[in-house]
Amino acid sequence: MVGQELWKKLKNLVSIDKKIRENNSKREISLKIINKDQIQIPQIKKSEDSLKANIFNLKKELDLLELDAKSLKSAEKEKRETLDKIQNSKEFKALERELKNIEFKVLESENSIEDKWVALENFKNDLETLSQNNIEKLKQLNESIHAQEAFLEQLSKELKEEYIKKEAAKNKIPKEWLAKYEKMQNKTPNPIVPVNQQTCNACFYPVLRQDMAKLKAGGVMLCRNCYRFLYYDADEEKNMNSESF
Ligand SMILES: [Zn+2]
Repeated sequence: MVGQELWKKLKNLVSIDKKIRENNSKREISLKIINKDQIQIPQIKKSEDSLKANIFNLKKELDLLELDAKSLKSAEKEKRETLDKIQNSKEFKALERELKNIEFKVLESENSIEDKWVALENFKNDLETLSQNNIEKLKQLNESIHAQEAFLEQLSKELKEEYIKKEAAKNKIPKEWLAKYEKMQNKTPNPIVPVNQQTCNACFYPVLRQDMAKLKAGGVMLCRNCYRFLYYDADEEKNMNSESF
């Protein structure tokens, strides 16, 4: 019984290894995306902190200003009551000046309170908008993380199957060839290439005539220049040469 040619078994192993490599790099990309998403979550939550601190500080300032305004107003009231009782015009004028001064301070304080209230409202609105946006952002991030996690789970299932296939494929290949393959596989993604027009299809080094005979009989050899595995497939050669036109 003639088994499958060695080069076909090797090519099968190459394609399994290629799939494993691809899935491993997909896995790495996916892990990076998850990592990037996860880093953003605390940053988003933190983005509200400075606005919250501004609001807290403004409220404190407003409390103080309002206390101040209250004491100014009671001072104003007191002066007015005193003013009503005064007969002496000199004293009256002095007190009137004091009263004007207090009135000015009351006005100033009211303006300041008004400004702070406007600022407080603005900060509150900004915080409201920001937290609405953050809710949306966090939702999207969590969705993205879940999607990547599902993708990773699928990938690891596929990888498990591929490693099983790989073991089976390796078992069909003689040990000495397997050792050569593994050495080559670490150096290049295409360790097995066809011969095309009597040259290695990777490095274009010519294949000796006696080697061609071996290859045409279904054998496998190493390229004398790049040490890749060489095989010969008449159909593949035909396809390669028709594709180039
Ligand atoms: Zn070569």
